[in-house]
Amino acid sequence: MEGVVSDHRNGQSWQLQWIREVRGEAGAAQLDQLHDLQQEVVLRDNPDGWGWELNDSSEFSVAVVRNHLDDVRLPVGIAPTLWNRFLPSKINVFRWRVALNRLPTRCNLVSKSIDLETVLCPVCQMEVESLAHFLFRCEVPFALWGRVALWCDVYMSVFDSFEEVRQWVEGQSAVNFRQLKMEAVCFIVMWVLWMFRTGIVFGDPKAKRDVLFDSVVSFSFNWFCNRNKKYDRDWNAWMVCSHRN
Ligand SMILES: [Zn+2]
Repeated sequence: MEGVVSDHRNGQSWQLQWIREVRGEAGAAQLDQLHDLQQEVVLRDNPDGWGWELNDSSEFSVAVVRNHLDDVRLPVGIAPTLWNRFLPSKINVFRWRVALNRLPTRCNLVSKSIDLETVLCPVCQMEVESLAHFLFRCEVPFALWGRVALWCDVYMSVFDSFEEVRQWVEGQSAVNFRQLKMEAVCFIVMWVLWMFRTGIVFGDPKAKRDVLFDSVVSFSFNWFCNRNKKYDRDWNAWMVCSHRN
């Protein structure tokens, strides 16, 4: 459409000519929405020009759009994301995705309208595979958390969510250093479980539940010691009890 905006206004109604007919229900609904918005438009005698309403200066900037999209799309009200320096980046990113429930569990995939043959847990085939199920409630995580609690010589109630793990770590009376250590172990447990689950889904013969605990112990030893130069690399001490060392 060429000309000025007022050329397309006739009294209180708009005279708009579209290049093609509106197709489908969604298009028709959007056109209705546009008509509703146009009802509120009041024309003045000023020359036509572009306006920008997201900031006070009325000037467009990419930064303002970025901030606006963040405000609209990013979740609010969750605990701040902390970086555990004893963990590799991939585990910290994984932990962030767990906190936001952004892992592609079958439950989450279905909620994104992805067709799956089943939504059941690939391990037990009995419950819907949600984040809480494969990290805490299923038989494999249930047994692994129990074994880790014995190894660390700590009491862990039966977790049911990421938030409960986070609160448990924060509630430890240990000094900050040990708290970070226990936090690292907890997130390694979750990561090992996710790797196991992925292996089961994609038919990896190396995905075996018997080695999960050993993986937690060895990964935590290697990552913790490599990122902590003051710590004495004593494998035997680590094997006995990670919490008190
Ligand atoms: Zn299960």
